[in-house]
Amino acid sequence: MSLFYPTLYRERITDITVDDLKRLGVSGLLLDVDNTLTTHGSQELADEVRDWLDGMREAGILMTVVSNSWEWRVAPFAQRIGLRHTSLSCKPLPFGFIRGMRRMGLKRKQCVAIGDQVFTDILGANLAGIPCIQLQPILLETGKPILKLKRKLERIIYARRKGRGQ
Ligand SMILES: [Mg+2]
Repeated sequence: MSLFYPTLYRERITDITVDDLKRLGVSGLLLDVDNTLTTHGSQELADEVRDWLDGMREAGILMTVVSNSWEWRVAPFAQRIGLRHTSLSCKPLPFGFIRGMRRMGLKRKQCVAIGDQVFTDILGANLAGIPCIQLQPILLETGKPILKLKRKLERIIYARRKGRGQ
């Protein structure tokens, strides 16, 4: 399996069901923020995402936030959705995921990392031996050259993935 391929692909976070998680055998979520739970840099929480979070809680799924972004960006959002968080996680390095996993008291294979970026969320989870779900970014970022480059490289990977029927 390529380090750039997710265990599962879904378009939006709200497309992930409790049944998906049962099939993966996981009970804890390591959640990215930007372009996963909300748009890049936003503190807004869409109603459907709030409902989805409530549904996961009701199903007994544990959740924690693992973001590469700054504390001032991540902390208020995590507080808003009632979850503990790690900011400046340095994904694809494993430390943030490991911290989140321990916080939930779960082992690697009991967690799934959920995020929109191949070179942080997906690569990081695969390197750490954690299952992962890749989402389509909610809204593509504009203006940041590094993100533009990453999205360009991601498109190359998607094209290869498609070619292999994955
Ligand atoms: Mg993201």
